[in-house]
Amino acid sequence: MDDAEKRLLNCGQLEARRVVNEIFRLDDENYDWNDIEDIVVERSGHVKNTTQRLFEKATNALQRHYDEDDYGHPRQNHTESYPIRMNHGEGYQLEVNEASDEIEYRVSALKYQYLRGSLSGSQHHLNRLKTALTNDEWRVGTAEVVNKYGRYELHVSVTHETAEVADKQDATTFVGVDVNEDCVGLAAVTEETVVDSFVIEYPEVKRQRHEFFTIRKRMQSMGQTSLEREMRGCERQFVHNQLHQVSRRVVDWAQQFENPVIVFEDLKDMRDDIEYGTRMNRRLHSLPFAQLQEFVCYKPAWCGIPSETIDPEYTSQECLACGHTARANRQGKRFDCVACSFQDHADRKAGVLISAKGLKEQNRHVPALNNLPVVRTQKVRQRGNGECEPPDHNPYLTIRGNQTDGQVGSVSG
Ligand SMILES: [Zn+2]
Repeated sequence: MDDAEKRLLNCGQLEARRVVNEIFRLDDENYDWNDIEDIVVERSGHVKNTTQRLFEKATNALQRHYDEDDYGHPRQNHTESYPIRMNHGEGYQLEVNEASDEIEYRVSALKYQYLRGSLSGSQHHLNRLKTALTNDEWRVGTAEVVNKYGRYELHVSVTHETAEVADKQDATTFVGVDVNEDCVGLAAVTEETVVDSFVIEYPEVKRQRHEFFTIRKRMQSMGQTSLEREMRGCERQFVHNQLHQVSRRVVDWAQQFENPVIVFEDLKDMRDDIEYGTRMNRRLHSLPFAQLQEFVCYKPAWCGIPSETIDPEYTSQECLACGHTARANRQGKRFDCVACSFQDHADRKAGVLISAKGLKEQNRHVPALNNLPVVRTQKVRQRGNGECEPPDHNPYLTIRGNQTDGQVGSVSG
């Protein structure tokens, strides 16, 4: 993407901000919402349905403010850029180019001002988006142009027609999932008690990735770039397969409980906050962690299981028995409270705390957490050579209500 195109997207985002500010201002002046929509559509530099999507998003924020006292009236004087929100087939259009196997985009940054190019992003995301574009069971919905650290991304939402997710308000068992680079800690907690817990270990992923890394480095130094590329593909395939096994087990485990809801830490919150220290950074920057979190997030929806996200702050440091929170409480895989001497498997404990936060999130009763079942663990084994998972055709999904949607790829020229 060249500078002129970046400037154009920036103009579009600033115009989106102006539109949203105007909606907030007119609402503040007690205009009727129907009139506001007409006024902003009339004045907007964006095409009609893009302006309507912005209107929808702004009035949702206003509705939250009127429904709940906690939210102040949205401010009207923000000057930073705002995501351009568009309908597929109108404000933006995606198409798979059969010859090059790339996904081509056309985005109208402003009225009559288009950008064209092909998307780049992880192969994983691109493949899923291709499926969504070519498979009848999938629908490509709205997208947003987002500027992240100076890079423009296109966040596309995709919906599966048949997935019906239970209402999380009806859930009775809160299944907390603590994802780490070498294991997942799981806990099932109801309003009465901690029902069960489980730790799934996958030390092979870490070991194999290290091994692959060493081999690739050796190849690089010998100038064998094509072999190295092939090796990279093998590594990705191996990790991918392992993570699918792990995420399937997470879902299987959750499904045995009555009306489960999966609770996991909100990755977006983690990325926005750099204060989480080295453990969190290591988790975030390790590829399997992000990918597994992603799998664990959409697979349950597949089976109709809803999910809930919680603020990840201090889940690894807080004591279940006395609530004392300190970095010193955690020593590798052991949790050992410096205040009350409560001890536990650190990742299982994190799972329990995540479940408890899920209960709190829905204003449910949180039971006493210091009486825990024995920790059970299971290792995911390596599969034989040549054995492969079926191809994955589930786009990156997060769940909002009964809709499954996600973000795919980033725009670059
Ligand atoms: Zn304690």
